[in-house]
Amino acid sequence: MLSDCTLRIAQMVPCTEAEGPGRRFALWFQGCPLRCPGCCNPEMLPFTGGTEMALREVVAQIEAATYEQNIEGITLLGGEPLAHAAGAAALARAVQERGLTVMVFSGYTLEEARQLPDPDIAELLARTDILVDGPYLREQPETRRRWIGSANQRIHFLSDRYRADDPRWLLPNTLEIRLHGLELTINGFPARSAVGLWKRSLGKR
Ligand code: SF4
Repeated sequence: MLSDCTLRIAQMVPCTEAEGPGRRFALWFQGCPLRCPGCCNPEMLPFTGGTEMALREVVAQIEAATYEQNIEGITLLGGEPLAHAAGAAALARAVQERGLTVMVFSGYTLEEARQLPDPDIAELLARTDILVDGPYLREQPETRRRWIGSANQRIHFLSDRYRADDPRWLLPNTLEIRLHGLELTINGFPARSAVGLWKRSLGKR
C-alpha cells in the first residue's frame, strides 16, 4: 500500500539514458541543504518552489513509463534526495515492489549518510542499488566515467543488481535536449561543461 506522502519535485524526465544505466525515470527533488561551489543545479537549492506531487501520482507516471518506454529503474537527483528522505524512501519502496531499480545521486558521502540519524535515510540507502556520492566539485570535472559529474564522486553498488564491469559504464557521457511546447530542458553531462539539469521556459526570460 502506498504512503500518502507528497514529494517536492523540481523536474521529472520519464525516460532518459543520461542519468544511469539503461532507460530510467529521473526525478530531481527541489531543495538541498548543501552548497557545493559551482553547484550544477542552483535553481534546485531552495526548499520552496518546484511542484508538490502525491507519491501515488509519481508512481502512476513511473508505471506508465515502464509500460510505454520499458524503463529499468528510477534515478533520484536534486537538489538533495537525502533531504527528502521520507518521500524518497517511500518512492524507492514502491518502485522496488514493481521490479525496478533505484539509483541515487547524493552530495553526502556514503559514510556521512550512514551517520545521519534519520531512519528514512537508512531505508533509502537499503533500497538503493547504485549510490553516486559526494559533493559536486567543479574544479575536478569528470572526463572518463559516464554519468558522473566530478572526479571525487564514488560509485557504490549497494545491491547485486548492477556491476562495475557493466559495459554501459564505458560509453561516452550523454546529453539529452528536449523541447516540450515552449519549455526546453537539457539533462546529462556533456564532456566539457557539467550540466545537471537545465530548464528554460522559452519566452519567459
Ligand atoms: S548536492 Fe547537488 S544540488 Fe546540492 S549544492 Fe551540491 S551540486 Fe548543488
